[in-house]
Amino acid sequence: MHRHDSSTEVLTQAVVRYAVDRVRLDPAPLDGPRALGELRAMAGRTVTPAGIGGLEALRIFGDVLAPACISVDHPRFLSFVPAAPTEASILFDLVVGASSIYAGSWLEGGGAVFAENEALRWIADLAGLPAQAGGVFVSGGTAGNLSALIAARWNWRHEAGGVHDRTRGLIVASQGSHSSVKQAARAMDADVVLVPADRSGRMHGSAIDDVVEAMAEEDRERIFAIVATSGTTNAGVIDDLAGTADACLRLGVWFHVDGAYGGAALAAPSVRGRFDGIERADSFIVDPHKWLFAPFDSCALLYRNPRIAKAAHTQHAEYLDVLQQDEQEWNASDYAHHLSRRARGLPLWFSLATYGTDAYEAAVERTLEVAHEGAQLIRESDHLELVVEPELSIAVFRRTGWTPAQYQAWSDDQLRTQQSFVVPTSWNGETVLRYCVVNPRTTVDDLAEIFASLR
Ligand SMILES: *Cc1c(COP(=O)(O)O)cnc(C)c1O
Repeated sequence: MHRHDSSTEVLTQAVVRYAVDRVRLDPAPLDGPRALGELRAMAGRTVTPAGIGGLEALRIFGDVLAPACISVDHPRFLSFVPAAPTEASILFDLVVGASSIYAGSWLEGGGAVFAENEALRWIADLAGLPAQAGGVFVSGGTAGNLSALIAARWNWRHEAGGVHDRTRGLIVASQGSHSSVKQAARAMDADVVLVPADRSGRMHGSAIDDVVEAMAEEDRERIFAIVATSGTTNAGVIDDLAGTADACLRLGVWFHVDGAYGGAALAAPSVRGRFDGIERADSFIVDPHKWLFAPFDSCALLYRNPRIAKAAHTQHAEYLDVLQQDEQEWNASDYAHHLSRRARGLPLWFSLATYGTDAYEAAVERTLEVAHEGAQLIRESDHLELVVEPELSIAVFRRTGWTPAQYQAWSDDQLRTQQSFVVPTSWNGETVLRYCVVNPRTTVDDLAEIFASLR
């Protein structure tokens, strides 16, 4: 099992061939889910005492299992937040897997962590964070938000010098904030107070003030962080970041910006101004697996002052303390809620190094253009109406006169006929449609055909 011989050589060729062929499919089939019973019957028993052999397992994966997974990188996958990893990033993910790197500590994975930090630095510079900013790549926005908020609470309690050690903390977040913020609060046994957004879905500093002023004094003292979203997942709306930063300053609390989806648009000069205030964040996340063209799973988590995060997250144990001897050494594990970690920032690093940051700027701009041209088609149509103008690359729109059942039936039919993957969402209680463009290969013609099918 751990030796290379002629049969593993055949398997090597087959697996590498499969991976390379998949990367080059243009486009990959959209595919779609199958029922459990159907998969069971088609795949048969795969885990057996004697093994079925790698070639047979690969065949079952390629013929049965992979087609039961929707290709997130398909140009007409416009639901949720799709992905569009570059060829270089995917190929390098294979290298990361092959390299057996433990990327939790500098001692074991310093070379990988160094490169990951180069990629983090690019993001920190886009956001305008100071030179000492730093962080780590975690699995996704959910893990990033949780880790940032743990650091925020640690800081709040630390600064209070023991007074709040047993106080239940409170997070203030925008109405459009992602479900993972509430989930982090549940995990931390903290409360969340949502700030009402304006009609377009944006949180303003003045609305934060109103909410905080209405609170009882003892609740106000429980606030340890305010979370603004730079690109809500449902509508792509950027909260008023400068106003939120001001509110944080007045209250003396941590400013966290969740840019899991939208943070990538920092790379696009045409919309960079909408992020003003982000440079004042205490922590910030963006998912390269969403709109920065890297494979799953990857969230860049950055702190203005990484020492706080380190104090909050470092695990101590007899066998680990050997790692904590040199201040210069960046132990990536110390900056989030994790210990062992894959060097999951390397595919982004390799892709950035390969193509250059200008290519990233152009690719993000391209998706913004397509999203906005799609909105123009909606404006010009007589069967569709824009519900939320795209600020970034998400648009929310309605098909006039349709019921929720009609939306669902249309969406199911689109996937069944392999035309597109666009699921309904809701806006102020109304069932509507939404598209999210993060794939530079998505064209205005793709959108036009989808719109035509809604007649
Ligand atoms: C997607 C998203 C998350 C969660 O990210 P995962 O990588 O899915 O865990 C958090 N916040 C926002 C704004 C998102 O769009």
